[in-house]
Amino acid sequence: MVFTFYNTLGREKQQFNPLQKQKVGFYGCGPTVYNYAHIGNIRAYVHHDILVRSLRRAGFDVNHVMNITDVGHLSNDNDDGEDKMVKSAEERGKSVLEIADFYTEAFFKDIDRMNITRPTVVCKATEHISEMITLIERIEKNGFTYLTGGNLYFDISKFPSYGDLALLKLDDLKAGARIEQDENKRNPGDFVLWFTKSKFENQALTWDSPWGRGYPGWHIECSAMSIKYLGEQFDIHAGGIDHIPIHHTNEIAQSEAATGLKPWVKYWLHNEFLVLDKGKMSKSAGGFLTLQSLIDEGFDPLDYRYFLLSGHYRSQLQFSFESLQGAKNSRKSLLNKIRSLAENAEAQREDEREIINRYIEGFDRAIEDDLNTPRALAEVWGLLKEGPATQDTLAAVFDMDRVLGLGLENAVKNENSDENCKNVENSEFLSEINDLINKRINAKKAKDFTTADNIRQSLKNRGIILEDGPSGTTWRRM
Ligand code: AMP
Ligand code: ZN
Repeated sequence: MVFTFYNTLGREKQQFNPLQKQKVGFYGCGPTVYNYAHIGNIRAYVHHDILVRSLRRAGFDVNHVMNITDVGHLSNDNDDGEDKMVKSAEERGKSVLEIADFYTEAFFKDIDRMNITRPTVVCKATEHISEMITLIERIEKNGFTYLTGGNLYFDISKFPSYGDLALLKLDDLKAGARIEQDENKRNPGDFVLWFTKSKFENQALTWDSPWGRGYPGWHIECSAMSIKYLGEQFDIHAGGIDHIPIHHTNEIAQSEAATGLKPWVKYWLHNEFLVLDKGKMSKSAGGFLTLQSLIDEGFDPLDYRYFLLSGHYRSQLQFSFESLQGAKNSRKSLLNKIRSLAENAEAQREDEREIINRYIEGFDRAIEDDLNTPRALAEVWGLLKEGPATQDTLAAVFDMDRVLGLGLENAVKNENSDENCKNVENSEFLSEINDLINKRINAKKAKDFTTADNIRQSLKNRGIILEDGPSGTTWRRM
């Protein structure tokens, strides 16, 4: 398959050619763990998942890295406001690390319930402070910083292509600057690499550094951790569109300033926002919808996944419970159709292979074309309506679902099992199984085969069989 992705850097669709043949380095900005993820955030992670699944199905070996921000993110991305983690910890009467652990666990529970494949590497900011310090030292040595008022700043006027990603012009930045809150900044767009003089007396976590005891600015973690796990140049970086003008713009400046202006990331993919009837959703402003709140209203996480796939990731998507109900109905009809096909499917019929191939082609073309999931879903429906009632059609739909991640194969396999477990709508159960499968994968990677075998056995005792295949591990009832 030949993918084309809309690259924010250049503002055009470009053919995807990875730096290394058949290998992809991908970094997706992860959550700041001071609260639950809202359903808008989840849109970003479903987008990353579709990207990873599509590339893997096409045969690429994808190294997917995701950070967990547990330090340094202020309520305004541009170094203003309160520290999100500290504020949340104070409000809840807990320590910052307790808050981080609690919301990280909640985040992965949501990820599993949404059937989002876990990243290859998940890295916490607080566990990579020394990598951040080393990178800042390189930036400093190359002449891009100044130390003032106790903090170390990045001087954007020294970086020739600052703002290319967001099509910002330095003069516009100056002209458009609001009353600058931090008078130590030489340019309004300069940003902090390392704080030693905290605005907050109660800064919870601090570390020693060449610039004094303090803590990192928010953006540096993504540069330091992506470089550690993916190298100084890698293929794809993604996040929501809100990250274009500040966070990703600053990530590029830091990374390239450190590495001698080598182009850092080749393709920048940004998802549009999910918006509510009433407007923007924000974690810090409160009043947002979580995945759990959808479940409490009687929806399955996979209804929400179906809803998201019915829009293209680069179009704004308006959320309403009526539209979610529409997605729920469609997913139900899809499952019914597939179950009835599974029951009645005949063996392969050679003469009807052509029509199946036509739909697979259509599906592949849709996904290659900047991950067009609405078109891809239409191809699945087209095949189910027009294709022959054969095992081949069923296999083709399951193959397409390796990208869509609607759990279709498991739904069919588990249809005839006992009441507790048969239901794809039983998301708690799905989440638990996914969690155990991921633990087993990690155990195998760490060569801890005893744990891996114990997990397999404990699931077997509950009547669940794990099957390892080329596209990962699936499960079925005994
Ligand atoms: P945060 O935890 O705030 O850093 O956000 C996590 C991810 O969600 C980032 O990639 C954001 O750009 C993205 N994001 C935030 N709000 C929305 C939204 N309403 N719709 C889609 N993506 C969003
Ligand atoms: Zn980031």
